[in-house]
Amino acid sequence: MILSYTQLGSYLRCPRSYRYRYLDGWREKETRAAMVFGRCFEKALAALFRQEDPGSTLLQEWSCFCDASLEYKNGESWDRLFRQGVHLLERFVQGNRVRIRAPQHDLQVKMIRNLPGGHEFVAYLDAIGELDGQRCVIDWKTTTSRYPEDPDGLLSLDPQLICYSWISGIPEVALVVFVRKHLPEIQYLKATISEDKRREFGRLAETTVAQIDSGEFPAHSGIRFPQNGCVSCPHLGLCLNNQQLIAANLIRNPGASSLDWLDELMD
Ligand code: SF4
Repeated sequence: MILSYTQLGSYLRCPRSYRYRYLDGWREKETRAAMVFGRCFEKALAALFRQEDPGSTLLQEWSCFCDASLEYKNGESWDRLFRQGVHLLERFVQGNRVRIRAPQHDLQVKMIRNLPGGHEFVAYLDAIGELDGQRCVIDWKTTTSRYPEDPDGLLSLDPQLICYSWISGIPEVALVVFVRKHLPEIQYLKATISEDKRREFGRLAETTVAQIDSGEFPAHSGIRFPQNGCVSCPHLGLCLNNQQLIAANLIRNPGASSLDWLDELMD
């Protein structure tokens, strides 16, 4: 078995959802404009580090979705997202805080760790570079609201960053958050992941892969107000046997073993 962070997170949130997605092949339709735009934006960032024109790359990538039926939220539109993207790229260039010295190797870096039982853990790191002169693992995020920064040290609990630190062996991690709001903003958030946290993550990966291997997929429904995980779960229609919800949110690729989930690693 090859396990990714996305899969691990899915299993820990709800093993039943994991089974729907990765064994039965039910995947969420990609209709959210924000998510599609985020991918285009990351391609523009990569172009910037390759000394190409990031604005043109963003236009070229995002234009592919100009006529697509995407779901825009809260007054969003194709034009508005594009303008916000250009503004954020300009701010990023002005800030000049991130260096990627060898973009051909240090962007979308594939890393693999062996797990017991012949299993593997694979991750694609957005970047390994320098933020304010310090070498670190960097993860890009595009979002409409700022990431919380308080209390101090909160970011060191981020499971995705702990995962990336564990798999790369690099203790310093950073989130570069591109906030698409009225006045676009970029947050540069840094954390140091301790050796203990990395070891703990390794144990979590090992126990999770063993549980998946044993074929146990109980439903972890989250029915407690206000934190009801089922409401935002793409597989809710399957659990409720609601054909309308299934048709609206999911498509099925039977035989999920075809590794289509690797696409999600770019998220
Ligand atoms: S709807 Fe709830 S119980 Fe069903 S798969 Fe999703 S999280 Fe699990």
